[in-house]
Amino acid sequence: MYAEVLIEYSAKSIDKTFTYIIPTSLSSDIKVGMKVQVPFGNKIINGFVTNIKDSYNDDYELKSIVNIVDKYFCLNKELMELGTYLQSKTLCTKITAYQTMLPSSLKVKEQKTNYSKYLTYIKINKSQEEIESYINKYPRRTKQIEILNSLLKEKKILKNAYSSSSLTQLFEEKLICEEKEQIYRLNNHKIENNNVSFTPDQQKALNSIDINSENTYLIHGVTGSGKTEVYIELIKRVVANNKKAIMLVPEISLTAQIVNKFYDHFGDDVAIFHSGLSTGEKYDEYLKILRDEVHIVVGTRSAIFTPLNNLGIIIIDEEHSETFKQDSNPRYHALDMAEFRKRYNHIPVILGSATPSLESMARALKGVYKYIAMPNRVGKSSLPTVEIVDMSEEMKKRNMIFSNVLKSKILDRLSKKEQVILLLNRRGYSTIISCKSCGYTYKCPYCDIALTYHKSSNNLRCHYCGYTIYKATECPECHEKALTDYGLGTEKLEAEIKKTFPSARVIRMDADTTRNKGSHEDIINKFKNYEYDILLGTQMISKGLNFPLVTLVGVINADGTLNIPDFRSGERTFALLSQVAGRAGRSDLKGEVVLQTFNPENFTLKCVKDQDYMKFYNYEMSNRHKLDYPPYYYLTSVKIASKDYDLASKEIIKVKNYLFKNLSNETIILGPTTASMFKINNVYRFQIILKYKKDPKLFTTLKDLDELYMLNNKVNIEIDNNPLQL
Ligand code: ADP
Ligand code: ZN
Repeated sequence: MYAEVLIEYSAKSIDKTFTYIIPTSLSSDIKVGMKVQVPFGNKIINGFVTNIKDSYNDDYELKSIVNIVDKYFCLNKELMELGTYLQSKTLCTKITAYQTMLPSSLKVKEQKTNYSKYLTYIKINKSQEEIESYINKYPRRTKQIEILNSLLKEKKILKNAYSSSSLTQLFEEKLICEEKEQIYRLNNHKIENNNVSFTPDQQKALNSIDINSENTYLIHGVTGSGKTEVYIELIKRVVANNKKAIMLVPEISLTAQIVNKFYDHFGDDVAIFHSGLSTGEKYDEYLKILRDEVHIVVGTRSAIFTPLNNLGIIIIDEEHSETFKQDSNPRYHALDMAEFRKRYNHIPVILGSATPSLESMARALKGVYKYIAMPNRVGKSSLPTVEIVDMSEEMKKRNMIFSNVLKSKILDRLSKKEQVILLLNRRGYSTIISCKSCGYTYKCPYCDIALTYHKSSNNLRCHYCGYTIYKATECPECHEKALTDYGLGTEKLEAEIKKTFPSARVIRMDADTTRNKGSHEDIINKFKNYEYDILLGTQMISKGLNFPLVTLVGVINADGTLNIPDFRSGERTFALLSQVAGRAGRSDLKGEVVLQTFNPENFTLKCVKDQDYMKFYNYEMSNRHKLDYPPYYYLTSVKIASKDYDLASKEIIKVKNYLFKNLSNETIILGPTTASMFKINNVYRFQIILKYKKDPKLFTTLKDLDELYMLNNKVNIEIDNNPLQL
């Protein structure tokens, strides 16, 4: 018997399988999808078995498989096929596809560590008579006798309950032995839940969804309409049929609340996956799935690859979220992967959002997805009122950060003992530091952008590559003491709030305050327990969170995302601001939102004010139509990246010519231009944009192009199908 084995053997991985002999000692155990060790060159490396066959017809000499890496772990048939699909969607190599689907502890390269965690117990190893004779023989060994007596009573006791010196003798005489029991790092307990009675919207949604169908449903439910309860009920129904469920959420800062809700309902029937878990925790959670011990997986993007068999439903909450697309190789979208698993298992996919992506809404309106609306909030709470404040008027009154309106509303909430959320989508202290005297601006030497000042550490950082330098007291260029900071980041906003509202208790949530494990939850819980009056932060605070005491949301600078030159910036702004507005007034208390902007006439902001998704949708769709953007056209970006500027600019022309020759004439080829992040980490990027409705030659052309650059280590090609950013 022979096995074809796929291996990872160079940085620029090339898809190639090699044939190995299956030694008879392993022949009964080996299966397609297993990880094995094979000799390659003069090394032993890991690979995946992709095929098993009886005959072999080349004439060079074959080597044998050395061993199976993990008998219990095997990529099942569905994941093997999903890997092929992932490859076809992203043009990555197959080995990359398989690696992407596995938690880091199970990736092919990891070999040595055993991630299982055990508790060690001691127990009696001899007959009762033998124990008793020992006790009679050594009456002075009181400690040992005490241990033996306890063990006779309790059968097994944690080993570390006793000092090892007191156990040594008992081990030597073989009176006791050890027993290891594997434990999971994360354990959850079910809390008895009074079932809610569903709102009419929830009931209607549940009635419209057929869990035995192969439909994709789009639940368009306003913030606070109770989508989570709908998801939970659907999963209960699926589990009652003994099938399983995957629930995707956009980011960890949100998982805490949702995960707790799931624990309450399903207890230890839930495994969770997100990047905030340790490698060991991820391994344990994966094991629960492999051992068929859970019906439900809750997690971020990569949880779409969990090997649940007998899958019954996939739910994607906040489906418009950009975190569902991976922004490094392989650039896959979790929604595509969900569609594959839907067809494979003949199950429904549920997409939920208050602000569906234009693509999803367009599909829903065409009938490709089944559309379900939940236009009302649960209970007595109603949508907040939104007010737009023109900051150019405020500037004239010297109000640089807080408009009069926002300031007085914050004071009002503080006096009423209600809470406030303030959004500023820019971390750090100030945006730039420059010299008033000569105009010098601190810039990253590797990336073509200004450095952000972080006051607490008194340094300037590049948010792209991490380059950091200390801020000098005088200008590095003209040596005047004239360095001034411009712009506003969350760190400075925090200081400003403390100055303006000295009695307020303030907490900040952004990438800088949430570096440690558990810090997200910590901040959220403290704010929820009313240990703080004001929560300020970046987009991290915008989604999913539910704080009953929050009655005011302020957006310090609504233009931040709007001014980014990208065709999706309107959509992004609308979603972000609608989401953050949705944090206000989620209980009986009425909510208010203040949007500060320099563009009070902006149409997108007006739609946020009116909380009118359809108005925004129609407006934005007509823009996309005029400009041939998605969802009317598909986009693919092809980038050439190199440290050598001249080389990159020459290669991108070659790429353009190649595409021109090989693609169908209906495909629009734009560029080359410099990429929006042109120089990052000393690497220059040029790009070409393809726009097409259908191009049968696209896949093979791009695949061939990709292969042309595979062994080129001076120039990299980056192909992104349906890029989120241009
Ligand atoms: P969404 O995800 O749509 O923004 P949530 O699912 O977070 O909304 O629900 C908002 C709040 O309403 C939550 O506190 C939730 O517990 C509560 N809730 C949901 N459904 C009901 C119901 N049928 N009866 C009472 N409270 C509900
Ligand atoms: Zn940089």
